[in-house]
Amino acid sequence: MSLRVRFAPSPTGKLHLGNVRTAIYNWLYARRNGGAFILRIEDTDAERSTDESIRGVIDDLRWLGIDWDEGPEAGGSHGPYRQTERYHIYAEHLDRLLKEGKAYPCYCSQETLSSQREEARAGGHNYIYPGTCRNLSEDQRKEKEAAGLKPSFRLRAGDRNVEFKDLIRGDVSIHTSLFGDFIIVRPDLSPTYNFAVVIDDSLMEVSDVIRGEDHLPNTPKQILLYEAFGYSKPNFAHLSMILGPDGGKLSKRHGDVSLQAFREKGFLPEGLLNGLALLGWSDAEEKEVLTPEELKQRFDIGRVNKSAAVYDENKFRHLNKEHIMAMPSNRFAEKISPYFADKGLLPKKSQGADYDGWLLKLAELVQKRIHLLPEAVEAAASVFSFDPSSMDDESKAMLESDDALRVVLAFAEKAESHDLTTRESYLELINVIKNELKVKGKNLYHPLRLCVTGAASGPDLDLLVPVMELGSRLGLPSKIMSPSKRAWKFVAYLREQGYKI
Ligand code: GLU
Repeated sequence: MSLRVRFAPSPTGKLHLGNVRTAIYNWLYARRNGGAFILRIEDTDAERSTDESIRGVIDDLRWLGIDWDEGPEAGGSHGPYRQTERYHIYAEHLDRLLKEGKAYPCYCSQETLSSQREEARAGGHNYIYPGTCRNLSEDQRKEKEAAGLKPSFRLRAGDRNVEFKDLIRGDVSIHTSLFGDFIIVRPDLSPTYNFAVVIDDSLMEVSDVIRGEDHLPNTPKQILLYEAFGYSKPNFAHLSMILGPDGGKLSKRHGDVSLQAFREKGFLPEGLLNGLALLGWSDAEEKEVLTPEELKQRFDIGRVNKSAAVYDENKFRHLNKEHIMAMPSNRFAEKISPYFADKGLLPKKSQGADYDGWLLKLAELVQKRIHLLPEAVEAAASVFSFDPSSMDDESKAMLESDDALRVVLAFAEKAESHDLTTRESYLELINVIKNELKVKGKNLYHPLRLCVTGAASGPDLDLLVPVMELGSRLGLPSKIMSPSKRAWKFVAYLREQGYKI
C-alpha cells in the first residue's frame, strides 16, 4: 500500500500550535517518503464548525508553506474532503453494520444516560453503557419506534483486548470493558468522530494515522470499527503533548497559542516550521537550524520522541533569528516594510528604484539584529529620529574629553562637504579625521556614533551613515535628517549644555 497520510482538523476555531505540529509531521512524513498528504475537514459538529475557520485553516497552512495533494482546493480522487458532504457514505456504512448485527439502535434517553453517568461519577468510577438496548427483540424495537423514540446507534464492542503497535509508543493494549458499546451515529443521523474518521481513513486509503496523544483512547474503538467493516487498519502514531514552561499542557493559560498569534508576533513561516518540527523530533545529526527543504529531506518518524516536548519561547525566537539572517535581503526588506508603514515612517508602496535600493540598505542594517520582524522598527529607530538629550550618563561623561569634542566638531565641519552616500566614502572621511586628529579606536568611534545617533550602541556606522544620508534625500514623510545636520544639532546641544566646543 502506498504511503498516504492526512491532517483532519475540526474547523471550530483557530489552529493552535499543537494542531499545526500534527499537520507538519504528517506533511513532512509524506514529503520525506514520497507519499501523499491529504487535508480533510472534519466539520460534523454543526454548531461549532464555521466556514471562517475552514478559511483560516487553509490560510494558515498555506502561509506555513504546507501544500496538500488532495483536499479542499486541491481536489483529488478520494473526495469529497469535507465530512458534511459525506453523510450518504456514513449512512450506507451504518446500514451495513445494522444488517450484519454489529451495531444496534439504542433508545435510552439523554436523561437516562446522563443520570447513569452521574451515578457512576458519584461512585468514583468510569461510566460504561450497561447494554440496556443491546439485546432488544425486533418487537421491542418496533414498540419504541412506534412511540416516536429516535435511537442513536451503538457498536457492539464485545469483551476482549484490543491491541496495536503504535509507531511512537510501541505496543498498546486496551480492554473493551474500559469503554463498552459506544455510539457511532446520533439520533439526528450525524456520525460521531470515531465512526466518520474510520470510514474516511479507509476510503481515502490512509496508510498512517499520525495525530495527538489525546486521541489514544479513541484508537481501540476505531480498530473495532475497522474490523467490523473488514477494512485494513492503518499504522498509528500518537504524538506526545506539547507542554508549556510550567509543565502543564500548552494552552490558552500560556497566552494565545494560535498560529495566527505567532504570525502576528512576526515569526517567519520557516522559523515556526523549524521550531514546531523540533517540538518532539530531533535530527539524526542534531542539526537544529533547518530549512523547510532540509526538514523534508531529514524528517524521520522513528526519531519522534515518546516523552512530552516543552515549548520554549526563547528557542523559537532564536531559530527565527537564524532564518531571518539567512533570508535574501530583498525578501527581508519586503517583510519588514509594512511594520514601518504602520508607524507612518515609510510609505505603504514602493517609490521607485532609488527608494527600493535604499530600503534594501535599511533592511541590511537590521537584518542581523532582530528575532521577530516588528523589532526591525526599533532596531532602525536611529535612522528616523535623533535626540541628543536622550544620551546616557556614561556618554555624557565621555564627551568631557577634548579628543571626543574635537572628533565631533571635525565630523560636523567635514560632513557638510563630503559625500556620505556610500560606505567607502564615509570610511574615507573617518580616515581623514583619524589622521588629522590622531585619535583612534573607541575614542574615535564612540563620539562619532553619538553625534549621529545620540546613542551608545546600534547598527554599524559605516552602514548607518549612508542610509541616513540617502534617506534624507528621498523626501520621505518621516523627514530623515542627514548625518551632517545631526552633527550640527549635536554640537548645538553640547554648547547649550556648557561643553567647550
Ligand atoms: N478532527 C480530529 C481533531 O481535530 C482529528 C483527529 C484525527 O486525526 O483522527 O482532533
